[in-house]
This record gives sequence, structure tokens and C-alpha cells, in this order.
Amino acid sequence: MSINKSIKSWIINENQPHIHETAADKIDWLRAIPFILLNASCLLVFYFGFSSIAFTVAVILYFVRIFSIGAFYHRFFSHRAFKTNRFWQCIFALIAGMCAQRGPLWWASHHRHHHVVSDEPGDTHSPVQHGFWWSHFGWFLSKRNYYYNPANVSDLLRFPELVFLDRFDLLMPAVLFFSLFLSGFLLRLYAPELHTGPGLMLVWGFCISTVAVFNTTVLVNSINHISGKRRFLTKDNSRNNWLLALLTFGEGWHNNHHFYPSSARQGFYWWEIDVTYYIIKCLEKMGIVWDVRQIPPALLKQQSAKQ
Ligand SMILES: [Zn+2]
Ligand SMILES: [Zn+2]
Repeated sequence: MSINKSIKSWIINENQPHIHETAADKIDWLRAIPFILLNASCLLVFYFGFSSIAFTVAVILYFVRIFSIGAFYHRFFSHRAFKTNRFWQCIFALIAGMCAQRGPLWWASHHRHHHVVSDEPGDTHSPVQHGFWWSHFGWFLSKRNYYYNPANVSDLLRFPELVFLDRFDLLMPAVLFFSLFLSGFLLRLYAPELHTGPGLMLVWGFCISTVAVFNTTVLVNSINHISGKRRFLTKDNSRNNWLLALLTFGEGWHNNHHFYPSSARQGFYWWEIDVTYYIIKCLEKMGIVWDVRQIPPALLKQQSAKQ
């Protein structure tokens, strides 16, 4: 990929697969610069320090975004585990877009492919096939996987707003970035007793919080396919990991999920904490989502009896 093309791709995603390039499976370092800068920028915390308001904002943004990515990019866009209307679909796509994990089409396309060939040679982020680090972040920095297969998401391509968000996937992280900058600026001006400012709000609310959301999300690809318990003998190596389930609001019940992917509930039993599912149920009570799917109780009972 030329230098110009790589830099342009920081801002505009042209989904033109270059899968036949000889270096398609190598990391495109030039295009990876924004990702590297985001991670490195967390070190600025040693310069800016700590403020309780900036830390609180970082925690809230972590919770809101880890829910939005799990409930919407994953359970809704990738698996159709519940229904909502076009307005709320757009709102949650905007919020999940702030996670800086590309657009909903890219995310769902790669994830649907993962379920088809999970832990087989064609699985782009299987730690069993390609090792931990490739599974954790190498795969999405490769030229091949900057693109997605539109055939995997033909049902989503009919929404121009989703296509737009995917094409300009830097937009929502940029909105978050400038909102935090502005709020830090205003707080320093009008509430100096809070001892915060644009730098503190950005390093905690944007850099650290976004990197935390990113790492816990991709740990589901890496750790959840090598470490934890297997309740179901699925054809892949997926596992249930209670610690990751807590950190990801329920995504860590990954063996459950591979056994029955279209369930909006991934913690199948009451002791399997699945905060995303609890919030989905609240949204259902509010009339925002409906047709929330679950594993059929008879199937769960039958499988449990085999153990
Ligand atoms: Zn998986
Ligand atoms: Zn899935």
C-alpha cells in the first residue's frame, strides 16, 4: 500500500480488499500509526497525573462503551440476538463507534466469519491457529483484515447510516475526543476546584478508557479461546472465563456463546454474571428492544444432563 493510501485510510475506509497482495497477512505499520499512538498516549498520565473527576469519567465511559460493543456490535449487529428500531440501532451504533473498534459492518463481518470457521485455519484471530499476539491485535493491523467481506453483512448494507459510520469510522472517536477536550477546558474555567483540565480529561477519558475497552474486548478473541472451562463440546476451543465475563459485562461466557450464538443471554445460569444481558432486559422493559432471544430451556437441560 502506498504512503498516501495508508494515510488516507486513517480517515476514509474504502472497502477494497487487497487479499491477493503478497504482504496481505503482514502488519501495515504505516496504517497502524494511530493505533500505536493511542496506546502510547496512555503514558501521558505520568505527565498529567490524576484527577477524581477525570478518573470517574474514564470509568463511566468504559462501562457505557463495553456495554455498547457487547450488546450492539456483537449481540445485535453480528448475531441478531434481539430486535430494535432503526433510530435506536443508529444511536447505539454511534455510541459503540466511540470504542474506536472500526465500524459496525467491519466488526460484524469479521465476527460472523469467526463463528463459521472458529479455530480452523481460516479463522483470522484464532490463538490456536496463529498464536496469542496475532489473535490479540496483529490480525486487525494486517492489510487483509483492514477490509471486510460485504457478503457477510448484506443485511446491514441496506442502511446507509451504517455504511457511512463504517466509511468514516474515525468520526465517533473524534467526537468523543473533542467533547472531552471541551469539557476539560470548561471545567478548568468554571470549576477550578475540581483540579482538572483538557489534558487530564483526554488522558483518562479517552486514552486509558479506550485502551481498556479495546484490550478487554480482544481478550475475548485471545484468552477466551485458550483459557477457561469448556461446558459444551463445541467444534472450536472456546472457553468460559468468569474474570473476563466480569470485565466485559458478560462476553467472557464464550463457550456458552459459541454453543448458542444467537442468544442475547451469554451467562446461561443465574450465577453466570452477564451485565449486558441485564441491561438488554431493562431496555426491553422500556420498549427500546424486543424479541430478546435465549437458549431454549429444553436444549440447556438436555446438554446439562450430559455433563
Ligand atoms: Zn470466539
Ligand atoms: Zn459471537
